Amino acid sequence: MSTLDKKIENYIFGNIPTSELLDKAYDIKVQNFGKTITYSPKVFIPLTTLCQDACAYCTFVKTPKDGGTYLTFEEVDAIANVGDKSGCFEALFTLGDKPEIKWSFAKEELERLGFSTTFDYLIENAKRVNEKYHLFPHINPGLMSRKEIKEYRQHSPSGGLMLESFSKNLSQKGKAHYGAKTKDINLRLETLENAMSEKYPMTTGLLLGITDTKNEIIQDIYQLIQTCKINTSIQEVILQNFRAKQNTLMKNHSEIVNDLFMRIIATTRLFLPNHISLQIPPNLASNIELFLKSGINDLGGISPKTIDWVNPDHNWPNLIELKNVIKQTDQNLIPRLPVYPSYINKDWLSPSIYEKVSSVVNENGYPKEHEFTK
Ligand code: SF4
Repeated sequence: MSTLDKKIENYIFGNIPTSELLDKAYDIKVQNFGKTITYSPKVFIPLTTLCQDACAYCTFVKTPKDGGTYLTFEEVDAIANVGDKSGCFEALFTLGDKPEIKWSFAKEELERLGFSTTFDYLIENAKRVNEKYHLFPHINPGLMSRKEIKEYRQHSPSGGLMLESFSKNLSQKGKAHYGAKTKDINLRLETLENAMSEKYPMTTGLLLGITDTKNEIIQDIYQLIQTCKINTSIQEVILQNFRAKQNTLMKNHSEIVNDLFMRIIATTRLFLPNHISLQIPPNLASNIELFLKSGINDLGGISPKTIDWVNPDHNWPNLIELKNVIKQTDQNLIPRLPVYPSYINKDWLSPSIYEKVSSVVNENGYPKEHEFTK
């Protein structure tokens, strides 16, 4: 074990009281992000619920027989329109990974829509949404090549790909990633490297709770931090706690308990490069109040209009209540764009996206006052 592995182990599993660990992490959060907690007002656009993979916990994806399909242009436009009118900034394109590789039905659907690949169809939709609305597409299509990213960044300021876990055990029979080729950690790291080469700000993160051992947790945090130290495209890390869903192979798998989750968050904050935002999804924690001073500075996308398609059983928190709860911790909740202030420059954004982003942000890189943000 390296020194950093040992430190991570000691912080997460050692004797330091959780409150002391949280205080340390909160101090670092305040030094780097002040007393604000951000969120991204968004609409969720599930462009296709078909996927070439079938992860053991996923309810987002459907087979053709179960109704997996593509949204039409009209459906995408309707969601974007609602989001725009509600004052959202982010159009979160979340979709299964290149379903046409597995399903002839996906090829037929794409043909019917006038396209031969999911990539081409996604580009056209992102382009239309970006040109027509105030919204900024944030692209989550699974693995991405350099060539694909080059195109995405013309119509979008940022993208996302969860690493989920570095553990190779997950590809074994009965485990979360069994048979899921796109979950190969090396391929996912390659996508993040492609993003760095093409200068595309990225969100990544871990899905905590899908592994089984203490050592896997330590290694996941260690490898995540090492990746973040090297890969300058990573603007944001999500620590997502696995929630067991009915009708999945992992419906009886245990979930991560609050105290361990808090210790993991705080430890990550201690070692993560300072500029990287640390997020937990506010609809998945069983008691969000507990986490507001754990070292996080962001609560991710919250939608006034669309459900969380990946975790449909978990409602978004009420924004007014959330603001009040956060106020009680002596912090403020403020909206942000899908791209973070330190990435709003001509180096990281394409010229047209930079121009559009610049027109909506204030001198701190956050959205100017807006009806939805008051
Ligand atoms: S790759 Fe993503 S969308 Fe596809 S089955 Fe796995 S979790 Fe679901």
